[in-house]
Amino acid sequence: MEIIAIANQKGGVAKTTTAVNLASALALIGKKRVLLIDLDAQGNATTSLGLDKNELDYTVADVLLDDVPLVKTIVASQHLDVVGANRDLAGIDVSLADVANAPLLLKNALKNAKLDYDYVIMDCAPSLSMLTVNALVATDGVIIPMQCEYFALEGIADLIDTIEKLTQINPKLYIRGVVRTMYDGRSTLAQDVSAELANYFGEKLYKTVIPRSIRLAEAPSFGKSIFEYEKSSKGAIAYHQLMNEVLGQP
Ligand code: ADP
Ligand code: MG
Repeated sequence: MEIIAIANQKGGVAKTTTAVNLASALALIGKKRVLLIDLDAQGNATTSLGLDKNELDYTVADVLLDDVPLVKTIVASQHLDVVGANRDLAGIDVSLADVANAPLLLKNALKNAKLDYDYVIMDCAPSLSMLTVNALVATDGVIIPMQCEYFALEGIADLIDTIEKLTQINPKLYIRGVVRTMYDGRSTLAQDVSAELANYFGEKLYKTVIPRSIRLAEAPSFGKSIFEYEKSSKGAIAYHQLMNEVLGQP
């Protein structure tokens, strides 16, 4: 079982879009058994997969705060399983402030659950909060989505610092790859930032580029992944290609 966290503390860089569509690609095209864990109180990944976030019996908040077994929080979506999220996650940082070994809670819950999936994909919140720390401690690799715009690299140093610090708790933690999202190849700024990312991340930069596509932005409002919404769209082709790169990684 491979665990992948999709993280970047910046909002609106396509973490959720990448988590949902990479997970869906793995399930629908790769025929893998996939669990997606939504770790953002906004519950966008949950909604994007057609689930009603306000009807969830449990979220990961119950796992972290009340020792509810993780398996109890799993619900089935069309083609993959989901641990959903909603506003119940909002106050969790405060609630975990005094908890000893707070960073390890999700890792331990996953271990105890003895899950049988090929991939577990975690969609992180736009922060380096204790929830994101839990994801980074529980995961093997991190995929960082980045938009090729001014300030793209700003804040990335903090994420990389956090990842480096957390290798003390989770020695396996590494940056699996960086994916350029919402890419507009006609923009010189995008080309310049893209070259900067290639320079900075080298081999870690995925060859696949996710283009800006209205279809990718529309799909969530139908509760569908891009593969169910419009499987011949350029967004679907790009996420399929990203899946191939991810599957091909050692
Ligand atoms: P994050 O989870 O990092 O906050 P989202 O995945 O929610 O980011 O994406 C932010 C917004 O951009 C959403 O409205 C989403 O639908 C849209 N979006 C994401 N990827 C693309 C893309 N490739 N083309 C066009 N819109 C996109
Ligand atoms: Mg999101």
